[in-house]
Amino acid sequence: MILILSSNVDERSQEYSQLMAHLAAMPGIVTRVHVERGAEQTVTEIYLIGNTKQLDIEDMQSLPCVERVVRVSEEYRILGRHKDDRRPTHFEYNGVRFGQDTLNVFAGLCAVDNRQHVEQMMRALRDNGQLCTRMGAYKPRTSPYAFQGHGKACLPYVFELAGKYGIRVVAMEITHESHYDEIKEALHLTGNPTGVMLQIGTRNTQNFELLKIVGRQTEMPVLLKRGFGITLDESLNAAEYLASEGNRNVVFCLRGMKTNMGDPHRNFVDFSHVPVVKRQTRMPVCIDPSHSVGTRAASPDGIMDMMHVTAQGVMAGANMVLVDFHPAPPEALVDGPQAMLMPELPYFLEDVQIAREAYLKRVELRQRQ
Ligand code: PEP
Ligand code: MN
Repeated sequence: MILILSSNVDERSQEYSQLMAHLAAMPGIVTRVHVERGAEQTVTEIYLIGNTKQLDIEDMQSLPCVERVVRVSEEYRILGRHKDDRRPTHFEYNGVRFGQDTLNVFAGLCAVDNRQHVEQMMRALRDNGQLCTRMGAYKPRTSPYAFQGHGKACLPYVFELAGKYGIRVVAMEITHESHYDEIKEALHLTGNPTGVMLQIGTRNTQNFELLKIVGRQTEMPVLLKRGFGITLDESLNAAEYLASEGNRNVVFCLRGMKTNMGDPHRNFVDFSHVPVVKRQTRMPVCIDPSHSVGTRAASPDGIMDMMHVTAQGVMAGANMVLVDFHPAPPEALVDGPQAMLMPELPYFLEDVQIAREAYLKRVELRQRQ
């Protein structure tokens, strides 16, 4: 059960103390307080954990400071969508809104290889009105002999160039808690020219200790990839780990499932789950056409499969697209063959826009029924 308190409640007030004393005296119930400080107001939520079935909603509603009570019926207590749940489905980070109602494209390098390619990418993004990108510095690779990413060494120029070209959010995978410290330090040393969305890759979806560490920091939002060989429920629970530790600014990314049923695509595309995740949770949903399809193959209409699946996901309401681009794919150290080319960026963005407009029209049509 979640008690949503009246906004801007004062933790030093007598009413608040009375409420907390009352809750503390309830047998078999423990409380967890979450405070969300927004630009205009502060919202306090109290999670009651334990045997809450016995509690009467009206009784709880009549307690001091309580504005609303949400009975949590499903598993994902914080990120889930519950009955009569009017909690927000968006958050803001570094001036960019991420929500179940928005669409942001994160085109960029799968892996940072050199400064020149980062700069070419960032410049193209700025020239095409983009505020976000992806830049892999720490790469989890199947083979221990494969390029593992430049790591810490590339962070200063990646962040400086992001600042130079007006990029506000860089999605960057981390595979270890030390990477978070390195990113924080590099951002600090370069004067915080940009923001970072920490990415948890599909190989780490259930790395619970990493999830806890990333969840305990609330400075940077998190992009959690769906695990490629586990159920959707297991991946959504992984997202809930982040929130239960304190960070609820989580975007959930569909990136295809590992099974040869998807051949000849690299993974079996799962973008039909965009509406499912939006229905079950309050998280914005991202799609990754690059790592799910994994080839530049095109259908007889000339349109690449990656673009077809992007359109399918966006037309079903996806809120973010994470996609690999590269200025010189043959020179790319990771995933060159699936990269889109720089001249394809305006074309890709326009195609995404067509799908977005189709989605909005579909919503409007539904509302007219
Ligand atoms: C990536 O986005 O660079 C990546 C490695 O993706 P995934 O974790 O989905 O394989
Ligand atoms: Mn990749």
